[in-house]
Amino acid sequence: MFNDSIFDAQNIELLRKKISQANNVVICVHVSPDGDAVGSATGLAAYLRQIGKNVTIIFPNQMPDFLKVVPSSYDHLRYDRSPEASDLMIKAADLIFCLDFNSKSRITDMGDKIAEAKVYKIMIDHHLDPDDLCDLVFSYPEMSSTCELVFRILWTMGEYEKLSFDTCKSLYIGMMTDTGELSYNSNRSEVFTTIAMLIEKGIDRDEVHNELFMNGTESRYRMQGHMLKDNLTLYPEFGAALQTLTKEEFKEYGCIKGDTEGNVNIPLSIKGINFSVFLREDTEKENTIRVSLRSLGDIKCNEISAACFNGGGHARASGGELHCSMEEAVEVFNKALIKFEDMLKAK
Ligand code: 5GP
Ligand code: MN
Repeated sequence: MFNDSIFDAQNIELLRKKISQANNVVICVHVSPDGDAVGSATGLAAYLRQIGKNVTIIFPNQMPDFLKVVPSSYDHLRYDRSPEASDLMIKAADLIFCLDFNSKSRITDMGDKIAEAKVYKIMIDHHLDPDDLCDLVFSYPEMSSTCELVFRILWTMGEYEKLSFDTCKSLYIGMMTDTGELSYNSNRSEVFTTIAMLIEKGIDRDEVHNELFMNGTESRYRMQGHMLKDNLTLYPEFGAALQTLTKEEFKEYGCIKGDTEGNVNIPLSIKGINFSVFLREDTEKENTIRVSLRSLGDIKCNEISAACFNGGGHARASGGELHCSMEEAVEVFNKALIKFEDMLKAK
């Protein structure tokens, strides 16, 4: 059990009222949905459906294949594939939830449509500095994940007893994927209280671990081996590592979306490496390099990403995007090392 509520009681009451008045709810999450985005959406959706709401989940684009184990994760619209149907659902909505993102720009083309919709909007998120897209904002950057936050809100609303196995499994998966299975962002004892309460609802940790992480494609590991052998450069004087992957390599190994997930973390296991960047050519968009940044200690990936890679995120896990060739992106990385030399060498 938790000691007390971390929320403003008025906000919880407002949330309760808005949910009770709504019939058609839309839930949207950030582009390239990860486990926390998918889990928070399906977890909240399962609860809302249980209390009689019509719920439509809209993802801006495709989710990785390995997240198919999230209950009902197939049950969504994709804005990139079905913009008209999505727009209709947004127009018909009388309540919109924005989960696991803090700014309109994180949902691509959908951002303008959500912003224009004249309907009450609620943001539930754990990234710093939310924008003004929503009317009611639950922004708690100290939380491990949006899934932990959704759980805590539902618990505070007195709905724990009611939560279904599917809601709990969805939220559990989001917590696991956003914390590297409780290896980072998980120092607060409340994270473990939450996990314990989810286990009480029947979650089998071993089973979920196997479903999520012991089901990879062969191509993923062949490609990972190639990357570590041929595409990894270490910069020991900066405590930094760089990995790259081109479109051609991605295709050569027969990779599918999600196969590169987690690769950026691997170099952090090397002694003396505290900052890791992964540059990956986008397979769908021309001239686009997706950037992933991870760090240990006090290195602020979000500051580096905002300054050099058009992105942001959390202090130790951020992303960004460049519109240039891979060679130019490597140049940007080299300049970032110099620009943030003091921060990188201080660790
Ligand atoms: P990933 O490396 O898994 O793509 O992203 C790690 C984290 O960085 C995400 O959870 C998200 O918080 C943030 N992030 C990823 N891409 C972007 C981006 O393009 N812009 C911003 N502002 N944040 C991003
Ligand atoms: Mn998250």
